[in-house]
Amino acid sequence: SSSVGEVSLADLPIRADLRGRSPYGAPQIDVPVRLNTNENPYPPPPGLVEDLAEAVRRDAAGLNRYPDRDALALRADLAAYLGHGLDSARVWAANGSNEVLQQILQAFGGPGRTALGFEPSYSMHPIITTGCSTEWISGAREDDFGLDPGKAIAAIEEHRPDLVFLTSPNNPTGTALPPATIAAVVEAAPGMVVVDEAYFEFARSGTPSALTLLPEHPRLIVTRTMSKAFAMAGTRLGYLAAHPAVIEALLLVRLPYHLSTLTQAAARVALAHREALLGTVDELRAERDRTVAWLRGKGLKAADSDANFVLFGEFPQRRAVWEGLLARGVLIREVGPPEWLRVSIGTGDEMAAFRAALEAVL
Ligand code: PMP
Repeated sequence: SSSVGEVSLADLPIRADLRGRSPYGAPQIDVPVRLNTNENPYPPPPGLVEDLAEAVRRDAAGLNRYPDRDALALRADLAAYLGHGLDSARVWAANGSNEVLQQILQAFGGPGRTALGFEPSYSMHPIITTGCSTEWISGAREDDFGLDPGKAIAAIEEHRPDLVFLTSPNNPTGTALPPATIAAVVEAAPGMVVVDEAYFEFARSGTPSALTLLPEHPRLIVTRTMSKAFAMAGTRLGYLAAHPAVIEALLLVRLPYHLSTLTQAAARVALAHREALLGTVDELRAERDRTVAWLRGKGLKAADSDANFVLFGEFPQRRAVWEGLLARGVLIREVGPPEWLRVSIGTGDEMAAFRAALEAVL
């Protein structure tokens, strides 16, 4: 028998399907220029900070009580932001869109069920899927990172998945899907279809949201987050829009009082300040387009992006490039196809530092 200090994970009776796994997570390294997790580089404006402090002071006096379990005021605010005729019965919220996705898997996945996604895409989709004892089926994107509707439908007909994931704009490639492709997938899918629109606000103007398809499709779920364009990653607030019956299903699996009083207050203050928060989106889009053009000007490949990041390559030794940038104080992400790297769009100064560091490395 060993002492408590010598016990390792391998000694515990952990689920067989978790044995040998590594936890998800981008390295959190304290460097001057952090361009690795697709955050908005602009901090909340002072007026928001003031109003949030005021809201916390107001709500702190009632923290002996549980929060509104159904977050109705917040859901009404989110519905008003989304538009498309949505109301609080058609909107749901949780601690980041990751928790929203987990609740969807808990309600619609499970043992004996499958979920299909088209990769490369957001790596938490398979991790949440398998964490909910659901089998992950990996479909493929095209060489340009788009989706061929015919092939996507063929994969759906072959596997008959209980859930299909579409990410638009896609992480880590930045690729937006045409609504016709999303509609074709929703028509073909026998189960639920989740369109992850975490980066929707950064899409090039005129790109329609999958929200437009909701009235026709009760098995469609569109997820969003306040972590990216809304510059509120620290708040942990993700949400979705779907048919009211879908939200009834999620109520069966959500933990009671999952959204704290303070989270609900912070999200509502942020929504009240949405003009200022989303005011940074145009600048980030322009910086993104400049970054794509600059990378291509250097003879590199850069994927077209509708998000606040750019996937670029190709580097046979991408680890060395990533490390070279880090040594110069610039942290980006080693993710995506083997010879590509992803840089999140920062401020003008941060992108200048990125360009200088990359030139030095190359
Ligand atoms: N979906 C996609 C496509 C993402 O890239 C991310 C964040 N990396 C998320 C969902 C989750 O974001 P959050 O939990 O902060 O809402």
